[in-house]
This record gives sequence, structure tokens and C-alpha cells, in this order.
Amino acid sequence: MQGKIVGIFAFLVLTGCSRTAQDVLNDTAASMGAGQLQTIRYSGNGFSFAIGQSFHPQEPWPKFNTTSYTRTLNYETASLREETVQTQFEIPPRGGGRQPIVGERRQVSMVSGNYAWSVAGEEAVPAPGVAEERGLEIWLTPHGVIKAALQNNAVLEPSSGGNTTVVSFQVGGKFPVKATINAQNLVEKVETKIANPVLGDMAVEISYSDYQDHQGVKFPARIVQRTGEHPSLEITVSSVEANPGLEVEIPENVRTARIAPVRVESQEIANGVWFVAGGSHHSVAVEFQDHVVIVEGPQNEERSEAVIAEVKNRIPGKPIRYVVNTHHHFDHSGGLRTYVAEGATIVTHEINQPFYDQTFRATHTLRSDKLSQSLVPPKFQTVADKHVLSDSTRTLEIHLMQGSGHNGGILMAYLPTERLLIEADAFSPNQPGLPPPAEVDLLAINLLENIERLGLRVDRILPIHGQVAPMADLRRAARKSS
Ligand SMILES: [Zn+2]
Repeated sequence: MQGKIVGIFAFLVLTGCSRTAQDVLNDTAASMGAGQLQTIRYSGNGFSFAIGQSFHPQEPWPKFNTTSYTRTLNYETASLREETVQTQFEIPPRGGGRQPIVGERRQVSMVSGNYAWSVAGEEAVPAPGVAEERGLEIWLTPHGVIKAALQNNAVLEPSSGGNTTVVSFQVGGKFPVKATINAQNLVEKVETKIANPVLGDMAVEISYSDYQDHQGVKFPARIVQRTGEHPSLEITVSSVEANPGLEVEIPENVRTARIAPVRVESQEIANGVWFVAGGSHHSVAVEFQDHVVIVEGPQNEERSEAVIAEVKNRIPGKPIRYVVNTHHHFDHSGGLRTYVAEGATIVTHEINQPFYDQTFRATHTLRSDKLSQSLVPPKFQTVADKHVLSDSTRTLEIHLMQGSGHNGGILMAYLPTERLLIEADAFSPNQPGLPPPAEVDLLAINLLENIERLGLRVDRILPIHGQVAPMADLRRAARKSS
């Protein structure tokens, strides 16, 4: 009998069945030195990547040098200060993400509890819209994930086995988090999902490796993050300081800031042509005999709903039949799903259709939208070099901008009768918050070359970013730099 009990005990020890998630987490906390850690600072360098800004929809995100990366965390107050310095990596520039970086791009971002902001010089710039996801980042760090798992009733995943144990739990009752713990009781991988207007429930995976001992606190020397299936951060950690302290005072303007309501201001540029602005990304509504064409469905559902309401008000009684998508960058395509739910056909470059076929099937459980409820399949009209939408009242030409360094399938739209050109990201006159263009503004030069190649007679430019400008302004921007 005794032998049998010993046998069962040995079996349990060998298979690990007797260890609960709490046991695993307590062992991991002890081995990593999480218990005595209230604050931590780690620094290094490597690469960062602009999510959703690839040159081609199937390519990885554009890469930047991160010459300096410092994070200070306070687990007690749920605070994080992150300072980064980026420089240009791709020469010539390829893709979006505000390329090229001229010199250095310094960024300081903060989160404390429910408040997020960035620091520009002495000024705090509130960022209430990102507080939730930035706060989540605290609990995805090697020690943060253990602390959060211990506080959020983590459970063992059935995928545990072999040399690793997987625990899962939710942060904020919302974000699903999984931590993979290796045989040395070190966190090897952390996975979560965050809502993205294009990718839906977007996968985030952070790998931690090459652990070093810093006076009892173990920390990885290598951090590799993948977001939406592509690398988003690669850092080699060169210094770690345990309990350096982090006192964060939440600035008054941050404390009182609220997520700004979507603003729409429209202006009739020519008869039946409406420049629908008011935010950082604009749309243009073009009236046809029995329908409306919208050029650009940017950002997200909130923007699309406001723009659609405005267009219905300005051009009553006509359905939105087409939405022209200038390029797949997420800030320019994040509102497309709402137009599909509205019944519109997406007009986009042919390189984007396989990508959209895939992304439109993604689940949107973290933040459901109209399309995820209605399940309308998307319809496409694809463009190679040129496509024309016309009826007896109007002609709208759509052209590929050849040779763009920003995007391989970027389209511009041209109204020949009205002599108006609609373009995105190549020329953004008087856009607030944009750094001055590089001395040689390759994108403005490329836009001008395309207009000249096609013999387009343009009087005014309606940019997706910035203000309506005369053609002379583009010539000046391109000439200044050529
Ligand atoms: Zn872009």
C-alpha cells in the first residue's frame, strides 16, 4: 500500500500535475526576483517598426534604428515611462511611419493608472485614447506578467507540457494574456491580443531570452516583439536597475483630458465635390447622378460613421456606392469596414485585394464593429494603372502613383473637369504636428512627376492630410528640394 502511494506521489511530481498555476507563478516570482521588485529600469538599443505602414501589404512593417530605449516601470502605481530615440534605417525610405527621419526622433511616452500622455519638451500632451493599451504593456513585461497573473486568478493552459508551463488570465477583465514559463522558472514568452480596426483581434507576442542575473533580479538581455505577425520591436538590453524608484505626477491637463469627439467639417470645393475634413485624416465625397463616391475611409469606424452622416446630410438621398482606398496603410484603411457594411464597393489597387480578403475575415471580438455583426462580404474593384468611375454627370479618374517610396499600390484620384487632384501622404500642406519635410522631399517630387507623366491639368490639390492647396504649392515643395 505504501509503495502504491509513493508511486502515485512520484507520478504527480514527475508529471507536474500537483502544481497549480499559483505554485508555478510563486516559483517563477521567486526565481526571477519579482517579489522585492516595486520599480525597474532597463535600457538598450535595437530596432523598432511602424505597425500597419509597410510598403507592400504582405511585407514586414518598416524598420527604424532605435539607438536608445529606456523604460522605467512602477508596478505599485501601474506607471510606465518610456524614452526612445529613433533614426532612419531604410535608405532610400520605403513605407510609411513618417519617413524619412531627419536626424533623430525622440519620444517620451507615459502612462499612470488610467492616464496616458507624451512629453514634448516641457509640455505634457494628453493621449487618453491610448491609456488602456499602454497600461497593458506594464503587465506584459517579464516581472509585470507574473505580478498580474498572481492577482488575476491565472489558470494552467492545457498546452502546458514538456519543459514549459503556460498560464493564462485577463488584464482589466478584457485583454487575454498567456505567459509561457520555462523549466528554469523564467518567463519565455508573453502573448496577448489588442483591437485593431484592420486586423481585428491583433496578436501581440513578446519573446524574452538570454536571461542575466542583476543582483537577484533576472532579466532578459534579448526582447523580440511581434505585432500582427511581423516584428515590431527588437531590443538588446544593456543595463537593468532594480528598484530605482519612479514617482509620476499626473499633469493637470492630462487629468482633465477626455477622448475628443470625432469632428467633421465639410466644404464644397466644386459643385458636388465635398472636402470632408475636421480631423487628422480627411475624405472627399463626389456626387454622381444616382450615387456618391467617397475617396478614403480612414482611421476607424467612429470616423467613418461621422463622415457618412455628414455626406448623407450634404448629398441627401444618394447611396454611397464606392469607397476609393488610396493605400492599405492602417490609418488610411481602418474605416473601410464601415463603408462595406453600408453597401459600398472598395476601389483599391490590385496588390491589396489578397490582403483585404484575409483581413476582412479576421474576428473582431475585442471591439466589435458594424461589419462583424452584419457579416456582409466585401466587394472590390481593383485598379492596376488606371480606373475610371463615370456617368453622364461626372468623371473621376484613379491612377497609380508610379515609383512612390511610400507605398507600392498608392492611388490618387483626379477630377478632370474640376481640375482637382486628391492624394494621400505625398504632399500634406500645413498639416499640424508634422515635422518639416526633408530637404529633398522625395514624395512631393514623385507626386509632381506622376502628374506630369499623366498630363493631368491640376488647379488645386485636396490632400487627405492638411489643407486644400493650389498646384503652385506642390511645385514649390518639389522644386525647393530638387
Ligand atoms: Zn501612408
